[in-house]
Amino acid sequence: MDCIFCKIVEGSIPSKKVFENEHVVAFHDIHPAAPVHILIIPKKHIASMNDVGADDWHLLGEMHSAAQQIAKEQGVAESGYRLINNCGKHSGQEVFHIHYHLLGGEKLGPLNA
Ligand code: ADP
Repeated sequence: MDCIFCKIVEGSIPSKKVFENEHVVAFHDIHPAAPVHILIIPKKHIASMNDVGADDWHLLGEMHSAAQQIAKEQGVAESGYRLINNCGKHSGQEVFHIHYHLLGGEKLGPLNA
């Protein structure tokens, strides 16, 4: 499996994890775009939003549940934050293992900058 996020799940490449449970892992983005920039991924390899199968939807709920907890722990729940999923070429998706970016810690710019 030549997927960098699967390797992070396995622990064969390092990451700064902030959350882990049976279904989800979250860790600091290596090139943060905001003071708080966490990536939230399912342990299961799903390439993108286009590839979420009928049995996988609960995993997106698990990712949102993790995001709510992480936002509190990172101190951005009250000030506000953004959850972003990039899907496919036009979005700029580069890692084809579905993920949410949780961004906060400052006033964020326009959505389509
Ligand atoms: P984009 O690079 O346009 O944001 P994606 O939505 O696919 O595209 O996001 C991939 C994210 O993964 C990037 O923000 C990148 O900095 C991050 N990233 C890539 N490799 C690692 C890694 N080893 N550890 C942590 N974050 C990583």
